[in-house]
Amino acid sequence: MKEACGVVGIVAPGRDVAHLCYDALFALQHRGQESAGMATFQNQQITVVKDNGLVSHVFAESTLRALAGSLVIGHTRYSTSGSANWTAAQPVYRSAGASGFALAHNGNLTNTTALAAEADIEYTSMLSDSDLVAELLGREVEAGATLNDALGLVLARVEGAFSMVILEANEVHAVRDPYGFRPLCLGRLGTADAPEGWIVASESPALDVIGATFVREISPGEMVTITKEGLTSQQLLAPAEGKQKLCIFEFVYFARPDAYLMGHQVHSTRRRMGELLAQQSNVEADLVMGVPDSGVPAAEGYAKVSGIPFGQGLVKNRYIGRTFISPDQNERAKSVRRKLNPLRENIEGQRLIVVDDSIVRGTTTKALVGMLRDAGAKEVHLRISSPPFTWPCYYGIDTPNRDDLLAANHSIQEMNDFIGSDTLEFITLANLRAAVQLDGECCDACLTGTYPAPIPVTLGAVGSRW
Ligand code: SF4
Repeated sequence: MKEACGVVGIVAPGRDVAHLCYDALFALQHRGQESAGMATFQNQQITVVKDNGLVSHVFAESTLRALAGSLVIGHTRYSTSGSANWTAAQPVYRSAGASGFALAHNGNLTNTTALAAEADIEYTSMLSDSDLVAELLGREVEAGATLNDALGLVLARVEGAFSMVILEANEVHAVRDPYGFRPLCLGRLGTADAPEGWIVASESPALDVIGATFVREISPGEMVTITKEGLTSQQLLAPAEGKQKLCIFEFVYFARPDAYLMGHQVHSTRRRMGELLAQQSNVEADLVMGVPDSGVPAAEGYAKVSGIPFGQGLVKNRYIGRTFISPDQNERAKSVRRKLNPLRENIEGQRLIVVDDSIVRGTTTKALVGMLRDAGAKEVHLRISSPPFTWPCYYGIDTPNRDDLLAANHSIQEMNDFIGSDTLEFITLANLRAAVQLDGECCDACLTGTYPAPIPVTLGAVGSRW
């Protein structure tokens, strides 16, 4: 599974916002390593810089110095919709209105074909779902609407997941879909009495890195508008009926461990997953180890409850990016070798409990277990801190179709046999929900098949292709 983008928006008069945005994007690099971009407003015009590659590759110091102004939006991308080509990198720009606007999006829209057809657009001519939204907004602005009004008109017709930031002359807007699928939080530079600027970002560590204070999360359906004068808020879209539906995999895997989501630190939540997993399915062993990075806090929790020592068993190469992510199964297995290397002295002759966050196709898990056995592990007991992943995601996470999801088509015993582990256990859905402590406020559709918002396909029976 791959993350699906990070967004940032900053307004800070008198500050070097391009450098602030760079630091914030750098803190969100884990949410997308395919491309990065920024748009600033200065001298009555919007300037966009974007390219394929990591944040540090796209923005040279000289580029950042050229991006003056006190308003900026930024984006890190992993494509779930549209091309991975640099032309689909974000922010997306449209020249509609006096100075045009730029838009950056985290999420995935589910009714793009219908939306495009309504507007007499061939969806395949669009670079991505975000490009389509920019096109629809541009048409409304050209017809005389303000961008604020255009956002209300267009986003009311959009289905799916979106946390968006939009830059226009002298304003940055930040808006979240009615379910709140993808995270978006607000921070303040300066003090409450004397604010020096505002930031919106996908995750709170992007606020920390620029010295901003976390204020609150943007509510489902809310849009905040930031100008040099300050911040206003409106309920642009009615929140969905029932509870918010933040993606539960933000807690399991996607978000940084130091992020706070809906009041809960991700690291502590992952530890709780491990604690409940140990209560649920303990086994005799010599060492508990986590698969870096997100399996590690869960392994710490598992060790604490089980009383089995926690230790490091794998070293991760932190410099693996998109380059080595290949659609080919063999390449995927090989990429485990490039990414992880066993600590032989800790593993040899040991009965291991190995805690990982999820099993999607099973290929990388199988390669991992083989690698641990090659390093001398006596037993490998796999413990997974999410329940079996049985349904695809349509809300901004790149997942294979259902035929390729191992758990959708195999029993746990069959999965264990395929992977080559001695035992395999998944945390139960009830325990995952208990660890997250958000009482129904999370989407878990890929675990249950109950999708809170409309999806673009008719779901078939297990094993069928659709
Ligand atoms: S379907 Fe799964 S991955 Fe997608 S938003 Fe819901 S919980 Fe997250």
